Amino acid sequence: MRLGDFEIHLLVAGGWHPDGGTMFGVVPKKLWERQKPADENNLVRAACVGVVVRHNGRVLVCETGIGSKLDEKRARQYGVWEPDGLLTCLKRLSVRPEEVDVVLSTHLHWDHAGGFTRRSEGGRVELTFPRARHIVQRAEWDFALAPDLRSRSGYLEDDFLPVEAAGAVEFVDGEAEVLPGVVVRRTGGHTPGHQVVRFEAGDELSCVVTGDLVGMRPHLRVPWTMSADLDVLRVLDEKAKLLEEAAAHRWLLVLSHETDQPAGYVDSDGRWTPEPQLSP
Ligand SMILES: [Zn+2]
Repeated sequence: MRLGDFEIHLLVAGGWHPDGGTMFGVVPKKLWERQKPADENNLVRAACVGVVVRHNGRVLVCETGIGSKLDEKRARQYGVWEPDGLLTCLKRLSVRPEEVDVVLSTHLHWDHAGGFTRRSEGGRVELTFPRARHIVQRAEWDFALAPDLRSRSGYLEDDFLPVEAAGAVEFVDGEAEVLPGVVVRRTGGHTPGHQVVRFEAGDELSCVVTGDLVGMRPHLRVPWTMSADLDVLRVLDEKAKLLEEAAAHRWLLVLSHETDQPAGYVDSDGRWTPEPQLSP
């Protein structure tokens, strides 16, 4: 769809099947299950959703999903689906990986930065988008290199170290306009350097990729948080702030793990109206 001079496409880079309790934290199963039915192993279906944006002759990819580097055993454990979704989706849009100028992800967890790199035919890890600058919050980078015990399994160094070794990481701190109209804002909360990404075509014309601040539609309820959130109170504050702004300015939101109409608008009562032009 067009948003001012931005051309925005939905990107569904496959997904996986997390435990429902991982997704909805303290929320009783009786409540979340009505919206996200679990299978016999208590797993729910999650997608890795982002956007591909064309703007001023540039191509931007925001959120890269899990990618295809996980070994077979891990991929089976996580119930990964469509591991090639990132490149398949780009192909459908006639975008070659070498054409991508900027890669953004909300944070460096394996289900968001996995697509930064891929395995070559010879088995080496290489950059998926060799020409792109990759925008990363400094706080996220520092934490990913020295995560606490609980966070260790969330970061896979093969996703991001090769990108830095290639000189393709651009660090930002807090809020930054990385290109005209492309604004990242550090929210922290889920991880220390978690950010949301806003494509701003005008005051009342913005698209925001929410990352794990609002992962799925049930997370539009402010107190519904994920188990993996490191600083829950900060998540609540930042989420309430974002949803208030989104409702006031009718921002288009893209929810990074929603499988069912992940792009839409929220009103001040938390009701969701999907954007029909961005339907998977
Ligand atoms: Zn995630």
